[in-house]
Amino acid sequence: RAKDEGRNAFQLYQPAMNARSLEHLALESALHRALAREELVLHYQPLVDIRAGRTAAAEALLRWRHPELGLVPPADIIPLAEETGLIVPIGEWVLRTACLQHARWREGGHGELRMLVNISARQFQDKGFTAMVARVIADTGMPAAQLTLELTETMLMEGSERIIGVLEGLRALGVRLALDDFGTGYSSLAYLKRFPIDELKIDRLFIRDIDRNENDAAIAEAIIKLAHSLGLSVVAEGVESAAQLAILARNGCELAQGFYFSQPVEAGQFVLPS
Ligand code: C2E
Ligand code: MG
Ligand code: MG
Ligand code: MG
Repeated sequence: RAKDEGRNAFQLYQPAMNARSLEHLALESALHRALAREELVLHYQPLVDIRAGRTAAAEALLRWRHPELGLVPPADIIPLAEETGLIVPIGEWVLRTACLQHARWREGGHGELRMLVNISARQFQDKGFTAMVARVIADTGMPAAQLTLELTETMLMEGSERIIGVLEGLRALGVRLALDDFGTGYSSLAYLKRFPIDELKIDRLFIRDIDRNENDAAIAEAIIKLAHSLGLSVVAEGVESAAQLAILARNGCELAQGFYFSQPVEAGQFVLPS
């Protein structure tokens, strides 16, 4: 950091810092307006039931249609939204929009599909989070059992009674809880026993090389076995080939998600199961 590097260094870095924070400020106020201007959109990616060979669920993924920058990915939105607290209203918009999309699928006879929605750490820490989820479910008529909230290991790491209380409060609403990006955080499967979680999503880092690296295949197999022994269902993220899918099928993994099936697409492009 500049302030740790002495006075001259600080002066040297000052202009760059200003430029950065100006850019940051501009983006921040643009993001603020994005909600009101309806520039945020959700794309949906299918989760395929491996045994049935059929789309069973969709994950809602946020994008920002910026008038000049084009389609901004969540990696450039979420950190900024978290930092500014905008994630709270944006997160509510995401949940509501995904639930409204599910209402359209129900009208079309596809109420069996589950909807998965990502939750950020800051949103999860918000005191009103569970009440917000309850409100959105009530407002949209969302069947709670069809809604899965995706949490990450780092959000649960603290493992406090308060966190377990929040998870139990969400479970009491009837929603399912999934652990996203499993393997990239700090938790172990043994420690997962403490949390009332329904589903494990294996991060794509652990799926990528399963068809050409024996160690990776062994790790994936072990994760699937242990998850099953804890009563969790398993989703493999980032499935890009038939070879990867075959290995996952052999190991009893329930669901697969990835470019092999589909990229995330606009609601109108989403292929509903026939
Ligand atoms: P995630 O929840 O793990 O979502 C999966 C990401 O992997 C998505 O990136 C998806 O496009 C990408 N992906 C899916 N299949 C493949 C594949 O086969 N190969 C490769 N290389 N990538 C694949 P995306 O949409 O850029 O989202 C990135 C992350 O941003 C998400 O990771 C999630 O953590 C976060 N995110 C997205 N939407 C939201 C949101 O509404 N709220 C919050 N809090 N976070 C979100
Ligand atoms: Mg996710
Ligand atoms: Mg993930
Ligand atoms: Mg992720």
